[in-house]
Amino acid sequence: MRPLRYQKGKEDFFNSTFSRREFLRVSVVSGISLMAGCAINPVTGHRELMLLSESQEISLDRQNSPHQISADYGTTLDKGLDNYVSQIGQVIAANSHRPQMPYSFHVLNAPYVNAYAFPGGTIGITRGILLDLENEAELASLIGHEAGHVASRHTGQRMTRGLLAAVVLTGVSATAGSQMGDLVAGLGGIGAGALLAGYSRNQEREADSLGLEYMVRSDYNPEGFVGLMNMLNEMSGKNESSMAVLFSTHPMSSERHQTAIREVKTRYISEKKVRPIYRERYMDNTNRLRKIGPAIKAMQDGDGEMMRRNPQKAREQYERSLKTAPEDYAGNLKMAKCLLSMRQSRDARRFAQKAREVYPEESQAKHVLGMTHLQLNNFEQALAQFNDYEKVLPGNPNTTFFQGFSLEGMGRREQSAQKYFDYLQKVNQGEYAQHAYSRLKDWGYI
Ligand SMILES: [Zn+2]
Repeated sequence: MRPLRYQKGKEDFFNSTFSRREFLRVSVVSGISLMAGCAINPVTGHRELMLLSESQEISLDRQNSPHQISADYGTTLDKGLDNYVSQIGQVIAANSHRPQMPYSFHVLNAPYVNAYAFPGGTIGITRGILLDLENEAELASLIGHEAGHVASRHTGQRMTRGLLAAVVLTGVSATAGSQMGDLVAGLGGIGAGALLAGYSRNQEREADSLGLEYMVRSDYNPEGFVGLMNMLNEMSGKNESSMAVLFSTHPMSSERHQTAIREVKTRYISEKKVRPIYRERYMDNTNRLRKIGPAIKAMQDGDGEMMRRNPQKAREQYERSLKTAPEDYAGNLKMAKCLLSMRQSRDARRFAQKAREVYPEESQAKHVLGMTHLQLNNFEQALAQFNDYEKVLPGNPNTTFFQGFSLEGMGRREQSAQKYFDYLQKVNQGEYAQHAYSRLKDWGYI
């Protein structure tokens, strides 16, 4: 399904006068300066080739994590829950090999089951995975595993080995985390597909070992780690769409499961029986979340239908979700995106507006609202939303494109051309690029 209908350019994109080479030249995006250097690995104490300095890890994190957090529908409005997770996170971080990193912990509104870490220490944990955990020791294990990726500088390692691109905001939309709804909402699959593209099995092993170590150092019962692995092991067999991103970025294996059991039985045997797992404390702090658990599960089902391209069925699930939690930001926004994909623009706009109202600080709703205005040919209102979005989350090339598209609709050709040109400097293929290119050509700019 296409978000908007474009007139196709008369010529094939790359066979035109603007050669591919020229195109690539202007498309070079600012990357990380590749000055080869060696660094001491904070965990192993060994020297290793590391092209990313600590300050680069932090700036990469700061540039990219806000986009990913917004793609995951922002940090929860349940401040009690968010503070609870942050407190546990800070204890784990203080017991890690890199306590000096600027860690921050975010409970994300997204319903899918996932957790991730950016290289500077921004750690996200979804509501979906919190619902699947059973006690605080399991949560500490999950955070410990993510902190283990940060401590071992796994993102930097992957970049150094050329396995990961330095540039994340490329606007290329076909990534693991992106769904039809996100594509229709013009958001692309920023973040998830690039910086968080997935760890190697060795890195997973190392993060597990560190996660267990950090949670034990933080005085939790190591059985919590086994509990987490039990849950992941069981889920990995089920092939559920809500788990797909988690397992594509953190590959699960029975070896991970067995290793955890063995380590707890041997290396950590003395800590095993005396330490608490804090089940009740976890249940108390996740109480409000578990009350809307059915709404989150319904959203997961709706997302599954969106992935299978059944917006009609997805809509039924989102309706079910909103019956339980009518004020939920993610629920309203997912409904808006679903309706947008069915071109039910007015209804889509109503849900997007509702989402904006319940969480004005979060920006994704602005983008989605902008897209509903575009479908209704309200170019001026669309532009206002995209401009608002960009103030908070600058750098998403898709926003640039849709600013250009809105300006084109308003007849402001010169400003539109500027936006299209900016877009083409970052993205050189796909439907949007074709549209931008053919307009620039028709208008005599190239
Ligand atoms: Zn991992």
